[in-house]
Amino acid sequence: MTNAPTLFERIIARDIPAEIVYEDGDYIVIKDIAPKAPIHLLVIPKKFSARIDDVTDEAEMGRLWLTASRVARQQLGDYRLVINAGKGGGQEVFHTHIHILGGWEGGHSVGFGE
Ligand code: 5GP
Repeated sequence: MTNAPTLFERIIARDIPAEIVYEDGDYIVIKDIAPKAPIHLLVIPKKFSARIDDVTDEAEMGRLWLTASRVARQQLGDYRLVINAGKGGGQEVFHTHIHILGGWEGGHSVGFGE
C-alpha cells in the first residue's frame, strides 16, 4: 500500500501550482496561499517527514535551518521563523516545513501575535 502524496509533495511535483521563490535539489520555498504576515513563505524539504521532530539526522536538520535562514535573509532581511508541530501546535499540513514571516513595517518585536 502506498501513502497518498502530501499537499507539499504535490506542489513539489508541479501537480498543484504554487509561487516558488527558491528551489534546489533538496528544498523548495513557496509563498503561503493564506499569508499571516505581509510576506509569508514556507521552506519545505523534498524528503518527506511528517513533522519537525521526525527529522533525526543532524545534517538534515542543519541544512533545513540553513536553507530557511539564508532564504529569509535574502528575501526579507529581518524575519521570524516559526514551526508548528502537531495538531495542538497548529500544524495543518503534515509534511515538515518552516514558516518565514516578515515584511512588517517598523519591526514586529512585541509578542507573537499578528
Ligand atoms: P501549518 O499550519 O501546517 O504549520 O502550515 C501550513 C501552511 O500551508 C498554512 O499557513 C497554509 O496557509 C498553507 N497552505 C495550505 N494549503 C496551501 C496550498 O495549497 N498552497 C500554499 N502555497 N500554501 C498552502
